[in-house]
Amino acid sequence: MGKLDKDGGKSLKLTRRQFLQAGAATAAVGAAGLDFAAKPSSAAAAEVAATYHTTCPYCSASCGQLVDVDAEGNVLDIYGDHNSPWNRGGLCSKGAGSYQLVNNPRRVGAWAGSHPVNNTFAYDPTYADGIAYKRTGNGPWEKMSLDAALNESAAAMVAARGDLAVAHEENNSDTVAFFGSSHINNDQNYLYRKIIANFGTSNVEHQARI
Ligand code: SF4
Repeated sequence: MGKLDKDGGKSLKLTRRQFLQAGAATAAVGAAGLDFAAKPSSAAAAEVAATYHTTCPYCSASCGQLVDVDAEGNVLDIYGDHNSPWNRGGLCSKGAGSYQLVNNPRRVGAWAGSHPVNNTFAYDPTYADGIAYKRTGNGPWEKMSLDAALNESAAAMVAARGDLAVAHEENNSDTVAFFGSSHINNDQNYLYRKIIANFGTSNVEHQARI
């Protein structure tokens, strides 16, 4: 498409003709549904009680999103904000799937006894009846209280790290590692990083880069 320069292609120059050809190719990709094209809300207009502006939580690009909710506050749809100067309503596949952060029957969540997809667990934000828990290996999903699952996970992390004083003295336990989340904001990630350092390691990666 572009002509490679003598610097080994570090700079890519396009002629006006090549630029127009590239634009036509991009439009063709869009026609095939592979672009960041803006999609309208899929919620029924009569059910939408309010629409909120927010940004996509999946990466630091922070594309603008709109969230339609009904009169009870239930999320009806999450889609690109056409007025956002950053993304003009377009979302990548991750951002376009944001609605499923809220509503998706396949989410691993609370134990519900039966489920339309796998007959084992379903998402219940109250976790009133415990969570579905699967131990290392290929054992069955089991029901466990949320507190018990968190306590067991915390104990396993402490055991893997070893002595806290030693970890702090060496300033980096290499037996544990953490992943940050693009589902939390900068301030929360800053605090998360502090907690990890206090736990005794500097092994931190970010989920958005995986
Ligand atoms: S994950 Fe995609 S939609 Fe979300 S902010 Fe990043 S580029 Fe935008």
